[in-house]
Amino acid sequence: MTKPATPLVEVVDAARWFDVSPPWLERMISRRPRVDLRAVDGVTFTIRKGETLALVGESGCGKSTLARLLVGLYGLTRGDIRFDGRSLTSVHGAQAQALRRRRQMIFQDPYASLNPRWRVGRIIAEPLNALADMTSAQKRERVDALLRQVGLDPADRTRYPHQFSGGQRQRISIARALAARPEFLVCDEPTSALDVSVQAQVLNLMKDLQRELGLTYLFISHNLAVVHHVADRVGVMYLGRIVELAPRDSLFARPLHPYTRMLLSAIPDIRGGGHARTPVAGEVPNPLNPPPGCTFHPRCPHARDVCRQEAPAFLPAKGDAEVACHGVAQGWPDVMSPTAESAGRPVVPIAVEATP
Ligand code: SF4
Repeated sequence: MTKPATPLVEVVDAARWFDVSPPWLERMISRRPRVDLRAVDGVTFTIRKGETLALVGESGCGKSTLARLLVGLYGLTRGDIRFDGRSLTSVHGAQAQALRRRRQMIFQDPYASLNPRWRVGRIIAEPLNALADMTSAQKRERVDALLRQVGLDPADRTRYPHQFSGGQRQRISIARALAARPEFLVCDEPTSALDVSVQAQVLNLMKDLQRELGLTYLFISHNLAVVHHVADRVGVMYLGRIVELAPRDSLFARPLHPYTRMLLSAIPDIRGGGHARTPVAGEVPNPLNPPPGCTFHPRCPHARDVCRQEAPAFLPAKGDAEVACHGVAQGWPDVMSPTAESAGRPVVPIAVEATP
């Protein structure tokens, strides 16, 4: 399917730091400086209307913080986020609220994200309460339509979340996210708490809704098979930065950044394709004290002196990719070799079933 190229979301040098210093008095007594956790530290990318951009990376790399920045749950420390051409930092009051309604989030855990004391109808209708021009009858009609849209029965409106399975609860979460007719959904590991067969149903439902409603997704997952199934483009995050951003097929077939190659290499090859499994070496460095230069250098088999001293710029590379790596930018033979790590490893597809 040809995707329109107009950007809906533009993220420019976005950063979010958290002050994790000891309490003020303790800091004064011990004369310790302020300590910031740089959860997101200078991220630039766009998401085009109607596409799915997936973000992958190890735990703690900043994916979820970035997701929350995009829906306004966190404020920016630096940089800007533009939605449909408007800077989110320059709108306030009713305008900010209107823009917030156009961006919604689906959370990872459908058990924790639904109020167990509310009936499903009230949960789904909650975002509609901000729409002053809707009558009670219209809200009820909308809730029924949303339940049908996500494959549930309008009669389910009177039941409580605990009376549903995990997959059904995630459908309720999706219905709630769609209530205010958003254009952009941030999906933070929306299927990781579900069984594999249910995952496929929920993913297919999300793809169907994207087609029907023209939705744009930011999809966060640590499961590369899920990412391969849903994404148009993929961004790879490492210690608060995007190190590679590329169309899905070229990223999976020809990953360029050494970290992306190691991530793909870590996929178990249950089909016996003859690829050696090369897990990502070493531990993620302490984000409170990240390494200088390229933050991946302590784990990178290609690191040279320049990697330890200078942070690589995020630059266009071949295949419509953008990559932050000195080796890719300068064409080092050991980095560019197609046999470096395990480029092009086949992804085991998730089971794809028809949406019921
Ligand atoms: Fe490895 Fe250097 Fe590239 Fe960082 S910049 S990923 S250390 S080659």
